[in-house]
Amino acid sequence: MDAAPVTTLDGQMNRERLYLFDTTLRDGAQTPGIDFSVEDKSLIARTLDRLGVDYVEGGYPGANPTDTEFFANPPKLARARLTAFGMTKRAGRSLSNDPGIAALLDADASAICFVAKSWDFHVTTALGCTLEENLEAISGSVEAATERGLEAMVDCEHFFDGYKHNRKYALACLHAAHDAGARWVVLCDTNGGTLPHEIEEIVAEVVKLVPGEHVGIHTHNDTENAVANSLAAVRAGARQIQGTLNGLGERCGNANLTSIIPTLMLKSDFAERYEIGVSPQALGELTHASRVLDEILNRAPQRQAPYVGESAFATKAGIHASAIIKDPRTYEHVPPETVGNRRRLLISDQGGRSNVLAVLGRLGIEVDPDDPRIARLLDDVKAREALGYAYEGAEASFELLARRALDSVPDYFRVESFRIMVERRHNALGELVTVSEATVKIDVGGQIMMSVGEGNGPVNALDQALRKDLGRYNDLIADLELVDYKVRILTGGTAAVTRVLIESGDSTGERWFTVGVSPNIVDASFQALIDSINYKLLRAGAKPA
Ligand SMILES: [Zn+2]
Repeated sequence: MDAAPVTTLDGQMNRERLYLFDTTLRDGAQTPGIDFSVEDKSLIARTLDRLGVDYVEGGYPGANPTDTEFFANPPKLARARLTAFGMTKRAGRSLSNDPGIAALLDADASAICFVAKSWDFHVTTALGCTLEENLEAISGSVEAATERGLEAMVDCEHFFDGYKHNRKYALACLHAAHDAGARWVVLCDTNGGTLPHEIEEIVAEVVKLVPGEHVGIHTHNDTENAVANSLAAVRAGARQIQGTLNGLGERCGNANLTSIIPTLMLKSDFAERYEIGVSPQALGELTHASRVLDEILNRAPQRQAPYVGESAFATKAGIHASAIIKDPRTYEHVPPETVGNRRRLLISDQGGRSNVLAVLGRLGIEVDPDDPRIARLLDDVKAREALGYAYEGAEASFELLARRALDSVPDYFRVESFRIMVERRHNALGELVTVSEATVKIDVGGQIMMSVGEGNGPVNALDQALRKDLGRYNDLIADLELVDYKVRILTGGTAAVTRVLIESGDSTGERWFTVGVSPNIVDASFQALIDSINYKLLRAGAKPA
């Protein structure tokens, strides 16, 4: 049953709080072909934190070196609770003698999500322990976490299948967790086969026994109902939703938070009853957050993704478009700007201009909207996007482009020429090696610098050579570091072109992304490297020679 919203005397609604739990870094990382680095994980965690997600599940400390390292140096999150994932204690072992539990308790996290079996068939067949031992493992693990002052929750694996086969035992697992002090018991549709009407029915029964403010839902998309199932669970009383950005996850994916968040905030049936930790302002960054993940995965964003896809608010020229120009509500279920997306019309596109103005505003670049330089910048962006540049994921390059159009980036240095040699040969030990050597000639305020760099590849060698000697700027770029490098081959038109995206960072913890496009991969990389150095100098307030 839906709880009716309470209206107070001054007419304000008292909305119930729903909690969002993101498992992109744990369940999402189960997706075949996905292998997050520690840097990737930190960037995603910070993105989720800025978005306003309540819990960020970082992974499984102790289970693999990446997750262990991630928890050893966790990102600083402003409000999200970093959560460690792991198994409940092993049956037949004492808590103090279980290395898995020790790794979880020692992880630098503020919450622990234990996964437990709640289907009797799985307990006896997969775990090979008695049903009673499994209940003890659940309660013992929760107690161990809460004694350490950590928030504990239990993901009840295969809960819905278990409930259908042995209702009494599935509920006993929930009670074992809840009675031991778990903040949340989470009902998991692990196989993803349960349908919305079943979820709503079963959750409604569960919340009669465990209060809904302690019940969570974790669904998979095997019948393309993961989002619908999450919403059905909320309608029935669950108050925590687990999911992933862009619906990332093994098989058909997890519940897609990128769709659930705007639905909860923009659809009145939910928005009037519930509130979440995402502010309307942060919702405006949703499309950006979705693209950040795609860039990390080196995937083209899904064009037809609800709310955030390129096509989500695209209309072909013709009768729809002319109606949209008169009033967008004619063909749009929500305004695209609310989720940071934009309307795309193939005739008289006004969206680009307002988009550029919005980004300039965010970058703190003040400019009169009627300034003719804005139109020139817009033309330049459009021409470059047609060539393959993507500024969505490379804001530092966009900022340089914009500041140049508005006359405020100094020419710090000029690269006169570069040359790269790649040599494959046998070394002194008789091993076959490939080495690259780059020579660059740079003009810094009239002074010519020649530098040579060596690397394991041409781009690495070029980077070494470029940063080896920038004269007066050497101190300012000393802490510049290339964090990541991604290449995408774009086909279309007559020939393939290469887009290179570089992520850089420095000792302040700042990260920035730059882009280069060329038919030649080294040239594309060169452009992105040069943008990165210029951006760093701009940030450092370097004075031109
Ligand atoms: Zn799952």
